[in-house]
Amino acid sequence: MKKLSILGSTGSIGTQALEIVKQYPDEFKIIGLTTNKNIELLKNQINQFKPQAVAVMDNEKADLLKRDIDVNVYSGMEGIIKIATLDGADTVVNSLVGSVGVKPTIEAIKNKKNIALANKETLVTAGSIVMEEVKKNNVNMMPIDSEHSAIFQCLNGENVYDVSRIIITCSGGAFKNLTKQQLEKVTAEDALKHPTWNMGSKITIDSAALMNKGFEVIEAHYLYDMPYEKIEVVIHPQSIIHSLVEFKDNSVIAQFGNPDMKIPIQYALSYPKRFDSNLKKLDLPEVKNLSFSKPDFELFPCLKYAYDAGIAGGTLPAVLNAANEIAVYAFLGNKIKFLDIPKLVNKMMAEHKIIKNPTLNQILDVDEKVKKETKRIIENNIGI
Ligand code: MN
Repeated sequence: MKKLSILGSTGSIGTQALEIVKQYPDEFKIIGLTTNKNIELLKNQINQFKPQAVAVMDNEKADLLKRDIDVNVYSGMEGIIKIATLDGADTVVNSLVGSVGVKPTIEAIKNKKNIALANKETLVTAGSIVMEEVKKNNVNMMPIDSEHSAIFQCLNGENVYDVSRIIITCSGGAFKNLTKQQLEKVTAEDALKHPTWNMGSKITIDSAALMNKGFEVIEAHYLYDMPYEKIEVVIHPQSIIHSLVEFKDNSVIAQFGNPDMKIPIQYALSYPKRFDSNLKKLDLPEVKNLSFSKPDFELFPCLKYAYDAGIAGGTLPAVLNAANEIAVYAFLGNKIKFLDIPKLVNKMMAEHKIIKNPTLNQILDVDEKVKKETKRIIENNIGI
């Protein structure tokens, strides 16, 4: 039986992970849960899954929860780390959103927890340090990202030195067929309306800007120790092939499946086993056609910035992420336009003096400063 703590249990990935846990009560036990501030849903989860302890990021909400629940309630970043390192758990599911996930992930690894990682911003911000700790502490790092789950499965039993290329597929996001003129006018509401994948709001905007795909390129670089020149992105609007691996003999292995996050979530939790699924089976004749095209780096420059940041390395990916995080929430709050997101990211990257081989504290310091500066630029309406 696996003993799980879920960071971000009230979000999109967290709630789906709990549905799988509920489906397999003999395979999983919940040890800890955390939320940002959704204490109503957390209360239901506590009653249903009986964790040892929970944490609420928001201090006031944590106090409110303490009043009417008979379980240990921790608060703030310290509280999240407490849940990430609870003795009783062997696996930590990190479904936090943003670079707030960096510290809990590293602390969990240092405490020998296996990680099921949905929080890709953690690898973008501090990938080299996180993967170093994974090796040092000999823990498993399983991706909860459909593309990286696909790559992991394509690499099963293969020698990574035989790989000539990793091809990450991309739905194209909510704005895939729009012109530059149309992109100037899109709103957050437009992006959130009809996603191919059912996801949280931040990642839906990241997907629309292709920043999510850029993050996934960096994520693949760290997870599979793959140089950037061997990682490619291809637009595949049907989202049936989740990624491909090409080997030096030109054989290509791909992983197929319906676009449902529950498949990669369940695999990350069940690994190395596979469990049954009650989801709809893939019906290829119903899919009819699968199409592929090259991404447009000019219309969606965030993808290019992510490659630039990844290749430059050091603290630059942390800058990419921090500026983007602030810009995306500003766009969600209707404070900036969609095309301001890449502009802000580009501006912050251009102004940054890269620190090579940064320590964790240097990375977290850059993260904080870039977020503050990006916020200042938005709030004071300084020419972006
Ligand atoms: Mn993905």
